[in-house]
Amino acid sequence: MFRCAICGERIKGDIDTVGIQCENCGGRVFYKERPNVKKELKAR
Ligand SMILES: [Zn+2]
Repeated sequence: MFRCAICGERIKGDIDTVGIQCENCGGRVFYKERPNVKKELKAR
């Protein structure tokens, strides 16, 4: 599960999908929804 780094919206589907964007704010920066892991991923 991933979350938008901008608004915190949960991202549905595969983070590896080309052109994926946050449905709420259109952001393209996400992070894994894990308490101890804050690794940012930038979708292309
Ligand atoms: Zn967002």
